[in-house]
Amino acid sequence: MRQQIIPWFLGCTRRSGTVKRIVLCGFRGTGKTEIGKVIASQLHLSFIDTDNLIESRTGRSIPSIFHEDGEERFRAVERDVIATLPEKDIVVSSGGGAVIDPTNIERLRKDSVVVLLIADIDTIEERLARKPRPPLTGLPLREEIAELMERRRQFYYSAADLCIDTSETTADMAAQKILRILQDGTSTLQQRETGMAFFKTGRIPAPGLQALEAMLTSPARDPLTRLMGVAGYPCAHSKSPALFNNLFTRYSLNYHYTWFEDPEIDEIMRVARSLDVKGLSITIPFKQDVIPFLDEVDEHAARHIGAVNTVVFACGSAIGYNTDWLGVRKPLVSLKGAKAVLLGAGGAAAGAAYALTDLDMKVTILNRTPENAKVLAERFGCGWGAWEDFDSIRPDLVVNATPLGMHPDDHSPLSDRQLNREMTVFDLVYTPPETPLIEQARRIGCRTITGTEMFAEQAREQFYLFFGIDVPAEKIKDLVP
Ligand code: NAP
Repeated sequence: MRQQIIPWFLGCTRRSGTVKRIVLCGFRGTGKTEIGKVIASQLHLSFIDTDNLIESRTGRSIPSIFHEDGEERFRAVERDVIATLPEKDIVVSSGGGAVIDPTNIERLRKDSVVVLLIADIDTIEERLARKPRPPLTGLPLREEIAELMERRRQFYYSAADLCIDTSETTADMAAQKILRILQDGTSTLQQRETGMAFFKTGRIPAPGLQALEAMLTSPARDPLTRLMGVAGYPCAHSKSPALFNNLFTRYSLNYHYTWFEDPEIDEIMRVARSLDVKGLSITIPFKQDVIPFLDEVDEHAARHIGAVNTVVFACGSAIGYNTDWLGVRKPLVSLKGAKAVLLGAGGAAAGAAYALTDLDMKVTILNRTPENAKVLAERFGCGWGAWEDFDSIRPDLVVNATPLGMHPDDHSPLSDRQLNREMTVFDLVYTPPETPLIEQARRIGCRTITGTEMFAEQAREQFYLFFGIDVPAEKIKDLVP
């Protein structure tokens, strides 16, 4: 077994980003220590349990650190311990709550494969009842497990590259399953060949197709490189592949991001599931259409906005989120309570309306088809009208959520006399970066916010949902192509 598996780890130089550590994460009682020891022994690697390291470094038991100094102090020690872990040739079992801190995730993920261990609540309760534990909530054991598992679920999903259910297995069986995946990956050759045929029907540039062939069908492929991408039709204009692939290099993540271009979202979701992709960014025209294909949708996306732009696949589930609204909200925080006009009533406008009303703005939605503006306005308690109504409003803020500006012969949606230097003008269109509306607003002296700012902010939130890593805003703007 060792002969077959070891080449993917120690000193492998086949491609940059190849994993050098195996990190196990998950709730207490999922078997991290026992399984970690078996894997380490089979691969002849060292095994480190971060909880044991904390106890040996402090000379105190974890229950006593919790009891005497509190959880905050424990987390600080845990952070220090994770920061000093060796960068290669080890198997790590990380503490159950370590993944809540994005700094820990960034460090644990570097050049590593992170395996999430899960188990059902009955199994965890039975396993934990036999061990001393520091109380984290003051609740009885079963309720504490249920509450913490739900609170941490998203963090675990973001942190993980692989997910293994240990409920019905021994530590040995779970370790063998992980070792098999480390050697072969999670998809079959047939699934990968079908996936490759799908990508060849899209308009992926030649270097992109070559990268996909190298990771899906080449005999020299790295089975641990995971795929993700942007799903749309068309989506060849998307800057997401360049941005995310830059981020993977920056954070030493063994991932590749590509274009899932197809007229049918059900086909895209089928391919994504069969290739075990980590996540998808969803763009036009699928932000609403994707919802029936998801297992869960978060509160903002489903109940309020009705559109999903981010899908995270984890432990067999596809979970939908919306980060577009956060990309609109962030640059506008200083304009809380302003009077705003929102141009357009489509998917991006729905996210923008949610963001603007969340900032207590008085919003009027104007649209080419006023009936569509009315429908959106009624959902968010906004005013509505036709474009001609603009002059009667005198807004502090104008947000363009139509595609006007994307095409070379597009003009600004507004005339010079409709703008003044006291206004803020936010154009959601980001290709090209300088739209006719932005050029016009700059000339007149307005404060301007470009679609690239929204793109960077929403991508930062997406990256956090996909990987649990919090990229500083300035860094992500620098990496946007
Ligand atoms: P959508 O759902 O197709 O909605 C388009 C809206 O614009 C509709 O209200 C439509 O009016 C209106 N519209 C379309 N063409 C028009 C025209 N020629 N003149 C006047 N109004 C027109 O599109 P979307 O998903 O909301 O996207 C809108 C824009 O936001 C796109 O350009 C997209 O690139 C941009 N966006 C940017 C980001 C970013 O990160 N920066 C993220 C998401 C979207 P009707 O109701 O009359 O059809």
